[in-house]
Amino acid sequence: MSKEAKKDATRTMVHYNDPSELPFPDKSACVLVEVSHSGLNYKDGLVLTGSPGVAKKFPLVPGIDFAGKVVEDSSGRFSKGESVILTGHYAGQWMDGGYCDLARAKPEWLVPLPEFLTERESMIIGTAGFTAMQCVMHLERYGGLTRGEKGPVLVTGAAGGVGSVAVAILNRLGYHVVASTGRAALKDYLKKLGAKEVIGRLEKSKPLNKEVYAGVVDCVGGSTLAAALASTKYGCAVAACGLAESSGFQATVMPFILRGVKLLGVDSVQASMEERKAVWESLRLCLPRDLLDDLVEVYGLDDLVGNLGEKIIKGETRGRCIIDMSLGKATQIPVDMLVNHPEPSSVSLSSVAVSSKGSAASPKVVSKVDNPSSVLMSNPLSASPLSRL
Ligand code: NDP
Repeated sequence: MSKEAKKDATRTMVHYNDPSELPFPDKSACVLVEVSHSGLNYKDGLVLTGSPGVAKKFPLVPGIDFAGKVVEDSSGRFSKGESVILTGHYAGQWMDGGYCDLARAKPEWLVPLPEFLTERESMIIGTAGFTAMQCVMHLERYGGLTRGEKGPVLVTGAAGGVGSVAVAILNRLGYHVVASTGRAALKDYLKKLGAKEVIGRLEKSKPLNKEVYAGVVDCVGGSTLAAALASTKYGCAVAACGLAESSGFQATVMPFILRGVKLLGVDSVQASMEERKAVWESLRLCLPRDLLDDLVEVYGLDDLVGNLGEKIIKGETRGRCIIDMSLGKATQIPVDMLVNHPEPSSVSLSSVAVSSKGSAASPKVVSKVDNPSSVLMSNPLSASPLSRL
């Protein structure tokens, strides 16, 4: 990430009357959703701070996750008022995302809200929780991890979003969870989620270390991933989903060829609809709902204009952060006032947009009412392979 990119990125609260006024629409996004909650993921932090490579272009409205009610759907797939969720496709990267009152989405990206969850709860889980469940499913399907296993299962980056949910799921499934964190002060938090042991971050390791872990969920990559591979038991696996430390890692093939250790890559973005439904069903069975409130920190759009993006990139947020769209608003606007309103200029929606000096024209700001609606981001740097992250 270049320093220049960071300096250039600006976040603005944008007030608008119609989603077509937002800066980065997609014509095939034909479902209009009244957003009640959105999530903050590491990737959102990268977009909010103007990092190159994750967003296709700036300006845009970030937000890779959101939950809300369908206002209209010209594809006919969803009915008006139906609750839907979107996690980790390319919203907030390749088109405007969920940091706004009214968002557009592609019908094939939306999942009907699972009946065991509220919209708020679905965002506490969000892409991070979804990915945590995928990691556990990968370890059990392909990594030889079986329920009843006595050996410890390691979670790195444990106090972050993916890590926290992974700790809770693994404990619920009866595993002995070892949580690795750089924040010793969060020991009690991790114990409450179900960690049996809380350790510091993994030190750089020799190619093969003592065989300790029957499985690993790795959220951080870099030397941590190499050290986790070196300490994984014969025939067991590491599920790698993140890069909070680094996207690169230096390791040897020793764990693979001498111990049959498996490295399982986990991607949530391109998961099929079938897999998505299976993951949400597993979350119903495996994630204790009574822990959701312990996992969450709640923010409003204003906080996104502030330094929330920087905080998640620096590893300073705890568990899952969600954006409650009602926060900071004097009154909720009824949906029917937002759509087909006889005098649209008398109401205004809000979003947060990200942009920069070098990006295309700044979004039009229509500030009629003190009722913010979206956060906009822009940055001059073009897309890179990371934008597929
Ligand atoms: P968070 O920022 O919430 O958590 C990341 C955690 O990693 C931090 O809380 C911190 O945990 C740890 N960490 C941060 N910096 C470092 C460092 N330099 N060295 C070691 N550990 C560090 O992010 P998420 O949980 O939302 O996401 C985690 C990772 O997973 C990200 O890289 C994200 O891009 C990726 N991801 C991938 C997905 C996929 O589909 N593959 C989907 C979702 C996320 P602690 O304080 O406990 O040490």
